[in-house]
Formats: sequence, C-alpha cells, structure tokens
Amino acid sequence: MKYFSTRGGDQKLSFEETVLMGLAPNGGLYIPESIPQLPENWINDWKNYSFVELSVAVLSLYISPEEISREELVSLVEKSYSTFRHPDVTPLHKLDDKSFVLELFHGPTFAFKDVALQLLGNLFEFFLARRNAVKAAGQTPETLTVVGATSGDTGSAAIYGLRGKENVSIFILHPKGRVSPIQEAQMTTVTDANVHNIAVKATFDDCQDIVKALFADKVFNAKHHLGAVNSINWARILAQTVYYFLSFFHIRSQLPTGTSPENIDIQYVVPTGNFGDILAGYYAKKMGLPIGKLVVATNANDILARFWKSGKYEKVDSGSPATQSVISVDASGVKETLSPAMDILVSSNFERLLWYLAYETTSGPVEERQLEAGAIVNGWMNKVKAEGRVEVPVAALEQARKDFLAERVSDKETLQTIKSFFNGQPSYVADPHTAVGLTAARRLAPQNSENVRQIILSTAHPAKFSEAVSKALEGSSKFNFERDVLPTEFHGLLEKERSVIDVDRPDIDLVKAVIERFATV
Ligand SMILES: *Cc1c(COP(=O)(O)O)cnc(C)c1O
Repeated sequence: MKYFSTRGGDQKLSFEETVLMGLAPNGGLYIPESIPQLPENWINDWKNYSFVELSVAVLSLYISPEEISREELVSLVEKSYSTFRHPDVTPLHKLDDKSFVLELFHGPTFAFKDVALQLLGNLFEFFLARRNAVKAAGQTPETLTVVGATSGDTGSAAIYGLRGKENVSIFILHPKGRVSPIQEAQMTTVTDANVHNIAVKATFDDCQDIVKALFADKVFNAKHHLGAVNSINWARILAQTVYYFLSFFHIRSQLPTGTSPENIDIQYVVPTGNFGDILAGYYAKKMGLPIGKLVVATNANDILARFWKSGKYEKVDSGSPATQSVISVDASGVKETLSPAMDILVSSNFERLLWYLAYETTSGPVEERQLEAGAIVNGWMNKVKAEGRVEVPVAALEQARKDFLAERVSDKETLQTIKSFFNGQPSYVADPHTAVGLTAARRLAPQNSENVRQIILSTAHPAKFSEAVSKALEGSSKFNFERDVLPTEFHGLLEKERSVIDVDRPDIDLVKAVIERFATV
C-alpha cells in the first residue's frame, strides 16, 4: 500500500515515509492510494477479537507485510495498548436500549488521543531503530526531535506517547500558568530524559507561532530532524479506525434477545474538532463496516456544522454577523468554549474528506480521477488560504450528506446535558466534550427510525475538565468531585516532582537554545 497527497502530484510514499513525514511537501495530507475492502467472512472471523487482535487485522490491510511483518505489528500493537487500564481498551458503556457511550479515555492521559499517540510513539521508535541498525559503526544515528505547542490537552498525550522512546526527543511548549493545573501537572511530572516541557511566558498563539517558525527554519529543521505528532499524521487516523470495529461487534453482542443484528442501524456521534476521530469512522465505513450515519458534533466553533448546511467551508460565518456572538473570541477568531479541545477555526483533517468528495464527483479511469481530485482540492485549499472560504459544488455536498449529519451545540446545552446525565438513572458523569456528543445524539434521537442505535464517542475523562463538570453540577448536593470523578491516578499528582524549563518571553532564539541544549544530536 502506497500513500499520496490530497493536493496531487505523483509522489507515492510507503507507510513508513508517510508516518515520518506527517504533512506532504505540497501542503497536502497523505491518503492511501485505495481504501482496502474487508476480507470475506470478516464478520464471523473477527467477531470475538480483542482490541489488539482487531487492530492487527485492520492495520495490516493498510501496511504491507514487507514493511512491517505480522509478528512485528503484533508486538507494536500489544505494546501500545498494554498501557490502557481497561481490558477492552475502549469499552462500550450502555446508557439505555438505544444509546451507548464508547469510552476512549482509558489510556495513560485519560483522553482519546492516547489511542493514536501510544501507537505513533512506538512506530517512530521502530522505524528509527530499523534505520539505525543498518548503519555502519561510527555513522551518526538517525534521530527525531518532536516539537509541539499545546493549550493543555494534546501535549500530555504526545508526551506519554513518546516518553522513553529511543532516538526520539520531545519538546512541548505551553503558555505558562494558562493551562489547567491538572493538565500542567500531567505534562510536567513526566521526568523521562527525552521529555522537555517548556513553559513560555506568553499566550498559546505565541507558542504556536514559535513552533511554526521552527519548522519553517530550514537549517534548524535539517539539523534536528524536526517531527510533528499533530492530528494530520496518517497513523493517528488509522489507529482510531479500530474502535469503530470493536464497538460494532460489542453493540451486536449486547442486543436484547430477539433483536436481529442485521436490522440495526448504528449511528456514531463524534465530538469533533480537527475531524480526525470521525474521519477514522468514515474510513471504517468505506472499508465495508455496515454503519449508518456519522454525526459531526461541534461546539460554537461550528465551521463543519455550517458546511453540512450550506456547502460553504468558511472561517467566518458569512450568514450571521459576528456581533451576535457573546462568546469570547481570541486573536485568531477561535471561540473559547467549555470544550477547549474542539476550539478550532478550521479542521485540519477535513481536507482528507474533501479529497474523497472531489474524487467521487469525477468520472473516468481511477488514475485520472485521482489526479483530478488532487487538482480540485488544491484549488479549494488555495481559496481557503487566500479568501478564508470555499464553496463546494452541490454534488459534493450531496455526497457528504450521504455519510454524515452535523450538529452544533452551545455551552449552555453542554452544561445542561452534563447535569441531566448526572441526575439520570443510572447516573453518568460526562466530560464537556462528550456532553457535546450526547446533546447532539439526544437532539437527533426523535427523528431517528426505530432500528437506530446511537454510539456516542466519549473523548475525555470528566476529571480532566473538572471546571466545566463542577460548574454544571454545582449546587447538586449529590455531587462530590473527589468521590464521583477523580481517578486514583490523579491523587497526589499536583504534589509530584516536576520537570519544566522556563522561557521568559516568546522569543524563538530562547526556545532554539533550549532545543540545542537538550536534543540528542
Ligand atoms: C482532540 C479532541 C477532540 C477532537 O477530536 P478531533 O479528532 O480533533 O476531531 C475532542 N475531544 C477531546 C477531549 C479531544 O482531546
């Protein structure tokens, strides 16, 4: 299996190159040259598979055995998911006969990004070790210096994915004092020698600008082999397809007797920001997993919800003036909500879906259509860059509507939903991101047909977003944060030893100096 860029060109990469490269040189994202179809009898052969077994079965359809042998893949996957606390890795929690929560937060940092980043870290280590093994004695080993900026959530998942990995060092910038105490503690209490937390006296945007400038600095980049672990990395999408398969089998095994699994229609509701999580569901569906609609659930940063209404992909809502907004908006135009991991202006992985929409609305021989789709997406993305917006043809929008629905959820509804599920029978404590999904699911339920079952993806543990959860449940005499929410792993976290490097102002040279000092070149 080879991979090419969503923006065209004739470059075709192996899986290894795709994973190490991240973003394509022409600005596009890598996609597989074809979407593999499920093997005959998969539905019987795979039905009792564990997460790890399913992961091997699905991933091996996308990775040639010449690149990673079956044995190596098994060992990489086993290692990656041994860090999860739940035997199912991503268990399905039944809310009622019609709805289920797919809990993706049982990994080391209690957020769904662990599912992908635990694997990505092991893939990096594996590829580097293999490249270095064939080097002659005395040759410098190949290393990777991962640099990223975080406003809280993703940094810790990246750090836990890469801690202790050979030939890899990781530098994560965060705005000093501006990430939540739990998230700051999660990042800075990792004391492995290859992990470097940089607390910059600046805003998150400043941190992100520094990271962008570092990547743009060709000399520095070449010297340190900078790498990114952001959500456009193909391996992250691939890793996430697995829980769609697992939950598909789990829901079928939990149906009341008398219900035929063939008759149910599964609707996946996904709290969405950069479109990585739900895109994995799209790939699963296109491989042949028989699922119904995928529901994009957004917060007030609703570029995607607006797209499915109008076919317009635009940073600023031209249909309703910005003055309507009572929400605080940062310098770049991102609205600050109670579900911060979904606070985005554009969705980076959406470009991959755009490619399929373009492809499916062309005709002719496959290779020509692929080239044409690349050219179309290139045009669309140039327009977004230049004008902040693009409108796709009606045929493409109709195509998008075949697989997806989209709903926008306000902070007010998010709080109400947390409260109502807490007071439900049985009680369930949802984090604010999950609550966005739960709200969208409830809104759609009345218009769904009798045979629809909803699976809502839960992307974070409620203890990670204690402020929003406490705000929703304040005044509820039954609620006790420490008893109801706080996992034992978080006890004493705030008092643990920390490792953090302070940088006094948003100055790229100061950050470079830190990387020079600690990177393993
Ligand atoms: C990253 C994240 C999301 C959004 O996922 P995307 O793949 O970017 O759509 C939702 N919830 C939480 C808690 C996250 O960390």
